[in-house]
Amino acid sequence: MKSLNCPKGHGPMGLKTIKKDIAFKGVDLTIETEAFVCQVCGLEAGTVATAGEAQQRIADAYRRKQNLLTGEEIRNLRKARHLTQQQLADKISVGIASIKRWETGTVQSASMDHALRVQLQCRIPDHAISGNRELSLPRVKLVAEHFEILIKEKLLKKGDKFLFLAKYLWYADMLAFRGLGSSMTGATYAALPYGPQLNNYRDLVDAIRDSDKAAAEPLSPEELRIIRQLAAIFPKKHMVYDAAHREKVWAETATGALIPYSCAPDLTEI
Ligand SMILES: [Zn+2]
Repeated sequence: MKSLNCPKGHGPMGLKTIKKDIAFKGVDLTIETEAFVCQVCGLEAGTVATAGEAQQRIADAYRRKQNLLTGEEIRNLRKARHLTQQQLADKISVGIASIKRWETGTVQSASMDHALRVQLQCRIPDHAISGNRELSLPRVKLVAEHFEILIKEKLLKKGDKFLFLAKYLWYADMLAFRGLGSSMTGATYAALPYGPQLNNYRDLVDAIRDSDKAAAEPLSPEELRIIRQLAAIFPKKHMVYDAAHREKVWAETATGALIPYSCAPDLTEI
């Protein structure tokens, strides 16, 4: 819905992001949601589309607070295990409709959450997702700026979706994990149609650009050596982009699924 008129006759209402405090299943939550707001009387009205989104945000806010897997986590972990919704449903003896609902806006029970974790998390431990390091956005920025200097190209431009930067980061993190035992940035990577990409990059690009690189743990000489080595192999950004697309590790991972660091030994272009 593009516009809505105030039912009290005040003319068009504007679409705004509003914060709402709500109680859900007895837990107090604050969620951000979009609503049409009348500039004259302040009346708020959702749309059918935003009502669905709001339900999903409420469910996810609740799940985060209760330490339950969110819908997106369930979906991403399932894809990382190369399971269809039906296969996952069979493994935990529920109908496929339950999986579909949990991956969107319905909260699973604690016992079902446990069953999901047993299936989805056991064989991909946390260290394989983040490379034995906690995610550090300032470190992502620090590594990115080193690449920018070495290849003399901008990788952190405003509006940039990190199409090229993500490949340099991916190789740097994977090589560091392979050679040094932990990644450089702690980033998690997903196999997207245009190559390996920071998982949830849409939520991260601005935060990375705005982060304070002075807050990052300085790069070790070994890490700097890996960055220089990669910049020498891929002196132009299209080269790293093309190389990443030749990696079987990426090509054979389902679209949207995570590429665990345990794949690092299988990289062929470095
Ligand atoms: Zn009004």
